[in-house]
Amino acid sequence: MLDATYCTRDLTTFCGLQHLGLTATGQHITDTRAVIECRVVEDDKFCHQCGAQGTARDTRIRRLSHASFGWRPTTLAIRVRRYRCATCKHVRVQDTSLAADPKAKISRGGLRWALKGIVCQHLSMARVAEGLGVSWNTANAAVLAEGQRVLISSPTRFDGVQVIGVVEHVWRHARYGDNYVTVIIDLTPGAAA
Ligand SMILES: [Zn+2]
Repeated sequence: MLDATYCTRDLTTFCGLQHLGLTATGQHITDTRAVIECRVVEDDKFCHQCGAQGTARDTRIRRLSHASFGWRPTTLAIRVRRYRCATCKHVRVQDTSLAADPKAKISRGGLRWALKGIVCQHLSMARVAEGLGVSWNTANAAVLAEGQRVLISSPTRFDGVQVIGVVEHVWRHARYGDNYVTVIIDLTPGAAA
């Protein structure tokens, strides 16, 4: 290789799938969306009940919305194996918890992309939902839960805060309901300058 800055093209790394315990095995790209076929890196073939080796029975496809590349919704189509234990007959599926929560429709990478879009880029939830290729309600519920987990529930979120600003703001021009919101802003970076 002529320039050590570059390495071989790699769809797994480009899509950040290595953090989700996945590896890319194929792609189907159209003008409007992209589907990345993946498999789970960890074989996980030993029975969780008795420890004996299981035999693969079949596979099913788990679909997750992922980070949008170039505003084209990207879906991960994960081939998930189902194993049957040869000893105790217990049947279970491969663990995909690194990629997403058990019933989630959006990958952890997709959630991070959406949360950054809302918080850092000030995107609307409608725009984020469009980027993920999911409904507004699905995006809203998932992003709020991720924000709660990553930002609000973090015990270190006030570390380094020394100066705050407080402002009252009319946010809802309607006759009924709460019309004012109190915004508290971390002014530490500006105060230090
Ligand atoms: Zn077993």
